[in-house]
Order: sequence, then C-alpha cells, then structure tokens
Amino acid sequence: MSERWTPESWRSKPVLQVPEYPDAKALADVEAQLATFPPLVFAGEARNLKKALGRVAAGDAFLLQGGDCAESFAEHGANNIRDFFRVLLQMAVVLTYAGAVPVVKVGRIAGQFAKPRSSPTEKVDGVELPSYRGDIVNDIAFTKEARVPDPQRQLMAYRQSAATLNLLRAFATGGYANLGSVHEWMLGFLKDSPQSRRYKELADRISDALNFMRACGLDLESHPELRATDFYTSHEALLLGYEQAMTRVDSTTGDWYATSGHMIWIGDRTRQLDHGHVEYFRGIKNPIGLKCGPSLKPDELLKLIDVLNPDNEPGRLTLINRFGSDKVADHLPGLIRAVKREGKVVVWSCDPMHGNTITSTSGYKTRPFDRVLSEVKSFFTIHAAEGTHAGGVHLEMTGQDVTECIGGARAITDEDLNDRYHTVCDPRLNAEQSIDMAFLVAELLKQ
Ligand code: PEP
Ligand code: MN
Repeated sequence: MSERWTPESWRSKPVLQVPEYPDAKALADVEAQLATFPPLVFAGEARNLKKALGRVAAGDAFLLQGGDCAESFAEHGANNIRDFFRVLLQMAVVLTYAGAVPVVKVGRIAGQFAKPRSSPTEKVDGVELPSYRGDIVNDIAFTKEARVPDPQRQLMAYRQSAATLNLLRAFATGGYANLGSVHEWMLGFLKDSPQSRRYKELADRISDALNFMRACGLDLESHPELRATDFYTSHEALLLGYEQAMTRVDSTTGDWYATSGHMIWIGDRTRQLDHGHVEYFRGIKNPIGLKCGPSLKPDELLKLIDVLNPDNEPGRLTLINRFGSDKVADHLPGLIRAVKREGKVVVWSCDPMHGNTITSTSGYKTRPFDRVLSEVKSFFTIHAAEGTHAGGVHLEMTGQDVTECIGGARAITDEDLNDRYHTVCDPRLNAEQSIDMAFLVAELLKQ
C-alpha cells in the first residue's frame, strides 16, 4: 500500500463488480470527456462536511444519511427531489430537537447510480441475462440489448447529478427550507399520521420553542441560521472509471478530491484491502464511508482504518454498520472494542436496511419495519454499553408514498407490496415510515 497513489493507480489492482463494456474505446472516450467537465462539488464543501462529521465522531452531533438505493433516469423530476428533501429535513428537525445536537444531513443522491450485485446474471422464467447494475451502467428492462453496459449512460448520470444538485442547493439556501416551513410540513404529516398522538407532544414542544423564538424577535424566515440549511450529497463510488474522471486537484490545498459528491463510500462487497476500491479511496481527501457487514473481522477493520485514515483525522471515516437485526449483537461490540483499543476516531453509523432484506411470500424483496427498527435499537444499546457514541443512521428512503417495506404505523402488508412497488433496486422506507423512524430514533437519542 505504500506505492505512489494516482487517480488511476486502482487500475493495477483487482477490482470487483466491473461491468463488461463491449467497446473499450467508447468507454475511454466517455471517461476522457467526463474529465473535462466541471466538478459537481467543491473541495471546500467536502472539508466542511468532514469538519461536521468530526463533531459527530466526538459525540457532539448526529449524522442523518438517506435516500434511494439507486437513483433512476426515469424518475428524475423536481417533485421527487423536493419530496425527498422535505422528508429528510423534517426528520432532521425531529432529531435536532430530541437530541439537542446538530444533525448533519447527507443525501444518498445526485450520484447514487452504480449498484453492486450478488450475482453477475439474473434468471427470470428460465431466461438468464446480465444483472442490472444501475442506470449509470445498463438498463433495467429485462432484454439482452438493455443489459449491455453503455458508457454514454455515464454522461447522463453526470448531467442528472448536476441538475439534482442544482435544485438541492436552491432548496437548501434559497429560503425554502427555513425552520418555520419545515415545522409546518411536519404538522401536516402529523395530521394524517396514525401515530399522531404519540408524536404530537414532541411536535408541540417544537412549536412552543419556535413561538418563543418569534416572540423574542427572531425572524425564522430571514435569520441566516434558520432560513438556510447545510445539505450534502453522497453515493457509493463503485464505478471507478467514472470516479477517476471526476477526481481533481483542489487548487487551494493541492490535494486530490472526488468531485462527484461530497462524501463517497466503499460497499460491503468491494472493501478488500488489496483491491482497487480501497486503493482509490486512500488517495482522495473527502470524508468517506466504509460499509461494515457480518464478514468483517476486527483485525481486518483495523488494517482498513490504517490505510484509509492513516492520520486518524476526525470526520474522515464513517463506519456504516449493516449486520442485520439478528446479527448486530454478535458483530458490533467486537469492532467497537478493537477501534476503541487502538484509539481510532470514527463515526459509527447504523444502516439498518441492508442486513434486513427478506423475500415476501408475494415474491417481493422487502424489509420489515420492525426489524429495521430493532437493528437501530440494538445499535444504540450496544454503544451505550461500550461507552461510545451512536453517531448516525443510514437509511434507504424516498419522499414518495411507495409500498416497499412492510409494517410501520400504517402497517403495510405483504399483499400491499404490489400496489406501489417502484424501486429499481432495494426496498425503501416511504415518506411516512421515514418520519416515523425519525420519531423513534429521537426517543432513543433522548435516553
Ligand atoms: C447499498 O448501500 O445500496 C448497498 C449495496 O449496500 P452494501 O454495500 O452495504 O450491501
Ligand atoms: Mn441498497
């Protein structure tokens, strides 16, 4: 690992999950073109996020990261982006108030396109085709042509990311997301929610706090801290050719940054120490995530931390745990103890989605809300017992009223899944389930 790093040094290592592009020249042409495009984010923004995550690592803030499993070209529209943004912000207000700590808001958005797959092919009714690898690679339609990786899709993904980010920035800073409005949205949600009595108390307390601020003369619509919000983007940096093309030197520090998003993470399937993904990530200065699943051993994690965060910089590394509600108690304490023993500074975040996927009797890939919540609860209990900070949650969610995860306050059943099952990849919490989750996490934060 001590060899010289360059944005392309990953190419001399083994790399998993690589699409088989039929035309190497067409791929190289697209990557060359991408390398001339403007960065999507600035290094200074990535540094601000790293600082904010440093506060999470120190126990002084909480990370809320969420969004689609996979963004899609077909679903790219202002309403989808707006609805997601509104839900995530409402969740953040609930958590900020309950935890009385700043909430760092990071979307799985504006770049979350490439998907790792468990199998390179999938079979439907006896027909076997290459797996769908996300809209940045191939098309979800189950035909031979659609499944051929097409490099032009990387240009589409770049342009969609730019447009999405543009709208998010406008929402975040243009006054739309002022605290008063976010609270109004929440009251609207509670009016229709089956859980409303339980949550009304918290919402009323927030109303009182806002009224008190107004009475003191604070203008929620124009006060700089209350009229705008910080919002960051993130994705799994799986498609390394695309990431390399978006890797740029920051003119103010001379350091390399991934400019495809503020934070990027390494998936659970591609975190091998001597492979290309870890090689790429070690050279960029962004805040990064590492998915930690049940197969990760404590000594292996420590070696990864040494490579990925050799200077033990606070906020650099977020460990995104995804064990499953039935496995978290077996795996998490060992990792926490190893990290603590070695004095490593990390953010501990809980992804309660990826270890809790089941196939419903109706044949859909789904996640029971109760199991998702159970993993989050265990995560908090374990950190309390170990004396460490349960730093955040990482959710697959949407602002839409989909029926993909069973359970929740409105008790979506197996039979309901067929109604509005829209995800192109994994099942997401819908808007109501997401806000429910925020209230439930808020109760854990208060303890
Ligand atoms: C994901 O976050 O969508 C994903 C594939 O996660 P993991 O790498 O943890 O399986
Ligand atoms: Mn997923």
